[in-house]
Amino acid sequence: MSNQIYNSFFGKNPLLLISIVILILIYYIKSEKPFQYAHATINNKKENTKNNNELFTKPAITFDDVAGLDEVKEELIEVIDFINNIEKYRKMGAKIPKGILFHGPPGTGKTLLASAVAGETQSSFFVASGSEFVEKYVGVGAKRVRALFEKAKKEAPSVIFIDEIDAIGAKRHLDSNNEKDQTLNQLLIELDGFNTDQTVVVIGATNRLDLLDEALLRPGRFDRHMYIGNPNVRAREEILKVHTKNKPLDPSIKIEDLAKKTHGMSGAHLSNIANEAAIIAVRENKSIITINHFEQAIERVIAGLEIKNPTILLKEKEIVSYHEAGHALIAKILNTDIVQKVSIVPRGQALGYVLHMPEEDRYIMTKEELCNKIMVMLGGKAAEELIFNHLSTGAKDDLKKVTELAMKMVCDYGMSDLGYMSDNPAMIKVLGVEINKEMNKIINRCYSSTFQCLSDYKLELEKIANALMDRESLNNSELTDLLGDFIKPENHKDKDSLEELEAV
Ligand code: ATP
Repeated sequence: MSNQIYNSFFGKNPLLLISIVILILIYYIKSEKPFQYAHATINNKKENTKNNNELFTKPAITFDDVAGLDEVKEELIEVIDFINNIEKYRKMGAKIPKGILFHGPPGTGKTLLASAVAGETQSSFFVASGSEFVEKYVGVGAKRVRALFEKAKKEAPSVIFIDEIDAIGAKRHLDSNNEKDQTLNQLLIELDGFNTDQTVVVIGATNRLDLLDEALLRPGRFDRHMYIGNPNVRAREEILKVHTKNKPLDPSIKIEDLAKKTHGMSGAHLSNIANEAAIIAVRENKSIITINHFEQAIERVIAGLEIKNPTILLKEKEIVSYHEAGHALIAKILNTDIVQKVSIVPRGQALGYVLHMPEEDRYIMTKEELCNKIMVMLGGKAAEELIFNHLSTGAKDDLKKVTELAMKMVCDYGMSDLGYMSDNPAMIKVLGVEINKEMNKIINRCYSSTFQCLSDYKLELEKIANALMDRESLNNSELTDLLGDFIKPENHKDKDSLEELEAV
């Protein structure tokens, strides 16, 4: 059949077939999308000046807009001096640092810092994402890398920022993809080839430094690595100040208190919270932003959108009340974190939640403290079993987190009978059954301690659950008032569980 069609159309006129093929080829070449650099999506108080073809910006952001990160800024000041006083360094025969690599969790200000480097040096700022160079057709990614560097050299002094550099710079393997390899090779060539005359600084950013190819990290390429982590309490305070500077705040708001309540959050979270609080204030037709608006914003960012008019069965509401009461009571008893709020108002996918944060930033935790954390996470499940004598699906997320922590205790922190070694993926494969046994030991011991603890304080558990059924949410002081003078058991319960753990 297809032969017949072919013959009837092209049999007499093969030129027609050739013309169609040529037309298709022309269409393909023309339709290949030109490379577009991602525009800087910087939350800028001042206008970015875009050049005529919009491939780069001249950011007006300076280091004053980047709060905290003092040690990183200090390192970058040298690079800035290099760009601003290139002659001084040239005379000495010094070469400008070529590649700087920012690594760390998302939302911590890597893009903002890179744009501040460009702002401080009045350089042209080129922003590209590693994934933009990843193409199906061999050679296209490499062509784009070449075009980017050519343009940057023309507009020098320039700062090229390549976000998600792991998309092109990941380790090469034997089964590597040809297109990716060519793109990475081109990037290496460009890094080696510039900066004799032009002032071009390349800043790469990644959340996964461990994935990057050695060739990219060697001296002369991306050899300056700067870790940009989540801010500590002082940095959080400064970031919140930056993002509330132009907002009408209730004078009674203490930014340092807000900083304490936002433990573990990134700069992006904090800027989001400041913005959400302003939006909530507008929604409520208020002329100033109050602490209440900030609290709502924090909950919104941590726990997700509040579900209006949820349709939850009364029986399920009771289960959720006991579940959340279990978490909150164990946290209170073990004094692990400050319980800011316990609620059974559904948010996002959660039917209830407990907001709890440590009183201060912690960098080292003992085995005892980690076991306490596990006990708080198991509090919900244990409360359900104690009151309803059932196993339910409600503890799925808690169990996932518990399992992850127990795995770290065994494989990374040397806190089990398997010894003090740190297990790499190959060892985990070999020792799988043993590791599982150790993890189970930790989790089961913590669970029985949690269950025992809740049985001893069943009255308090019921008080919290009933109050939640009634009022839906309790904050820290309401919880403390409700529990009255109840005496916290000395840490002996937990120590017992640890001793048992060690004995097993
Ligand atoms: P990703 O790794 O996801 O690309 P990132 O580390 O590049 O994230 P940015 O895009 O720089 O993060 O930060 C997002 C936003 O968070 C910024 O636009 C800014 O509003 C805010 N922010 C983050 N860190 C800071 C900081 N140190 N000072 C002021 N604002 C900050």
